[in-house]
Amino acid sequence: MIVDRDLLARYLRQRIELGESEILLDGMTAEELKTRLVGGARPEVVAPEAGARMSPTQLLQAVLAGVSSPPPSKPAPAPVTTVPASVVTRPTVSGEALRVLAAEAMGCKACRLHQGRRNVVFGVGNPQADVVVVGEAPGGEEDRVGEPFVGPAGKLLDLMLLSVGLPREKVYICNVLKCRPPDNRDPQRDEIEACSTFLHRQLDLIAPKALLAVGRFAAQLLSGTEKSMGALRGRVHVYRGTPVVATFHPAYLLRSPNRTREAWQDLQLLREVIDR
Ligand code: URA
Repeated sequence: MIVDRDLLARYLRQRIELGESEILLDGMTAEELKTRLVGGARPEVVAPEAGARMSPTQLLQAVLAGVSSPPPSKPAPAPVTTVPASVVTRPTVSGEALRVLAAEAMGCKACRLHQGRRNVVFGVGNPQADVVVVGEAPGGEEDRVGEPFVGPAGKLLDLMLLSVGLPREKVYICNVLKCRPPDNRDPQRDEIEACSTFLHRQLDLIAPKALLAVGRFAAQLLSGTEKSMGALRGRVHVYRGTPVVATFHPAYLLRSPNRTREAWQDLQLLREVIDR
């Protein structure tokens, strides 16, 4: 799914122009968000001056600091044989098992997508997370870096999760597909069938309290239905005994900011499910 870098900027500017002092986040002020960002979210999303009051415009600038300048380009990794250190964060039993599974995925040739990949994007985060976020498939930036949701949609996802007290480092994030579809086209049915075995095993190992499915493909797979996103969001589904909340993909929200409120309601629902 292609997301123009400027979309996130446009989205935030729109909120500012609408006079919002709460950017994006139900119940979280710009000041609170600043504290969260300065206090240890992803290092590239850092407010300009710790301690200074942050206006919506400064917030926009802080967020854009991580969006407008792509990270320095690394040499393209060799066809993948190593597991990124970020796949696990703690040496736990499930972490070790995840590492083994990731190593298996790195060599996977079960579908055509292995031909064009630079990296297998297995997943990242806390292997004992209460929440696993499942997206669709890696985009260009994710393919290059080897981590899910590192592009503009990822920045918005970070903000969405923060709004319900879930900094990125507290969750585990992965996708239905581990390899990038060419030109960011939609995943095909046979690709989902071939690849979802990794997702199922990943989720079995992590055994989270709840799942957040972002976008139609994750929502359909985890709910076991083919319903539209509109029909799937706003209620709790069950995947192998684990509650699933479905919401719009952040890339879609960047293009359709009028759906933001519904997405926020979904995030609140996720919070309720975790707190039960
Ligand atoms: N979109 C997704 O669904 N996953 C990613 O990792 C990036 C963009």
